Amino acid sequence: MTCMTCTAARDAPQFHPFFADYCLHCAARRIQYIQRRLNLAPDDKRNRCRAALADAMELGLPEQEIRAMAKLPEWQLQQPAMDAQPASLPAPRKRGR
Ligand SMILES: [Zn+2]
Repeated sequence: MTCMTCTAARDAPQFHPFFADYCLHCAARRIQYIQRRLNLAPDDKRNRCRAALADAMELGLPEQEIRAMAKLPEWQLQQPAMDAQPASLPAPRKRGR
C-alpha cells in the first residue's frame, strides 16, 4: 500500500509538514523536519524529536529503524511499489509479409 502522504511530499518534502501515522518513512521524515526546518532552541528540538519518536513507537513502528532513517541525508519518502509502475506496452506488431 503506497503512502499518500509520502506521495504528496515527493516533490518538495522540505515544504510538506504532513506525516501519516503507521508509515515508517513519514515518522522518520517528521523527525528530519523537526531537526532541519523548525527554528527551535536545541532543548525544544530534542523534546519534539523525542515526542515524535514516542508517537511512532506507540503505533508499533521500530525505534532503531526510525532513528537510523532520520539520520540519512535524504528526506525519507516511501518509494512507490514496483507493481504500481505502468507495464510497458508491447511493441506494435507489423502486418504483412
Ligand atoms: Zn508516508
